[in-house]
Amino acid sequence: MIQKAILIRYGEIFLKGKNKNYFEKMLISNIKNALNDLEFQFNKTSGRYYITNYNEFDEQDILDRLTKVFGVYSISPCVMLDTNFDNIVDYIKSLKFTEKKFRVSVKRGDKTFKMNSSEFSAYIGGVILKNNPNIKVDLYDYDINVNIDIRENQKTFIFYKNISGAKGMPIGTSGKGLLFLSGGIDSPVAGYCMAKRGMALDALHFHSYPYTSLQAKEKVIELAKQLSSYAGKIKLYVCSFTKIQESIHKHCAEEFMITIMRRIMMRIGEKICEKYGLQTIITGESLGQVASQTIESITVTNGVVNNIPVLRPLIGFDKEEITKIAKSINTFDTSILPYEDCCTVFLPKHPLIKPKLDKVLKQEEKLNIDELITDAINTIEIIEI
Ligand code: ATP
Ligand code: MG
Repeated sequence: MIQKAILIRYGEIFLKGKNKNYFEKMLISNIKNALNDLEFQFNKTSGRYYITNYNEFDEQDILDRLTKVFGVYSISPCVMLDTNFDNIVDYIKSLKFTEKKFRVSVKRGDKTFKMNSSEFSAYIGGVILKNNPNIKVDLYDYDINVNIDIRENQKTFIFYKNISGAKGMPIGTSGKGLLFLSGGIDSPVAGYCMAKRGMALDALHFHSYPYTSLQAKEKVIELAKQLSSYAGKIKLYVCSFTKIQESIHKHCAEEFMITIMRRIMMRIGEKICEKYGLQTIITGESLGQVASQTIESITVTNGVVNNIPVLRPLIGFDKEEITKIAKSINTFDTSILPYEDCCTVFLPKHPLIKPKLDKVLKQEEKLNIDELITDAINTIEIIEI
């Protein structure tokens, strides 16, 4: 029987050792989740997975989704045959190639197959030459590579394309973090970086409605959706920051606005992590990018988080590098929509670049911080993405 299939290769490095079963279970479940609204059959053979029995018109969609599943190394749309010398040869004979130069690459997982890889490559090359008078062999500078993967399960896969996967580690194998998601370019990329290392995500967004618009919130929901095509299900916690900002604005010296805001964001973040069993806060900060991201500012904001790490995967990245990733994961166009972030409301003319902790603490004494935080947490809206 000849049928269409999609071959999935996984990063074998993390699949070795004692966690192999766990990693593999997660990867398989993530692959199935990514395709859950489509018709398909999931199959396993040693060292590979493959998808069959899907609708042909879904093929591109399936390929697109699979390239976003972390832990997948590469994928290939294939034709799958029962392994049998004549079957394979007959199929190859039926092909008409329009390319000028080709090569054949045989992989033989099934060592019982009667020819070894190089003998069979040469044989198949001969068959193609005979049936396609205008084509030549070129092992290095070829227009098409005819791959024949003879697996252990009596199935042979024939394919021409090897599409790079998302690589990384399966989501869920590295715990779960709380991504501080603004509407900007950086934070979705920070989430992507952690997800790539296998971390599942929830997200926290602060808004200052009515100072910030409802569209600003919609934009963040859209970014969370885009991120979830890589990171899987995300719970988005939407937290009103309006009263907190009004209170800081009213009681504290202007230049402390951002520093104190960020310290309160961190405190709220840690409380949410505690409440929902999340293991870390993730931000899109990058050293020196703005006043709030100098090492002095980071030290003062980091200081309020007591029991969990704050991960800043972009800390050493340039904006250009971050932008490149944002474009490649399709969050960039949404991120640059011109809706205000809460950090731009009540923006001081001269924010502190090197805040001093003792001075910050003095300013914070003027606020009823615990009450502000409790109120903000009590009114959080949770959106399942
Ligand atoms: P981004 O592009 O991610 O908005 P940025 O360069 O604008 O970052 P800041 O505004 O200083 O930098 O924010 C630094 C980080 O703080 C953000 O990457 C994000 O993780 C977090 N953050 C900022 N504003 C918000 C917000 N409104 N809600 C949730 N997190 C936020
Ligand atoms: Mg921002």
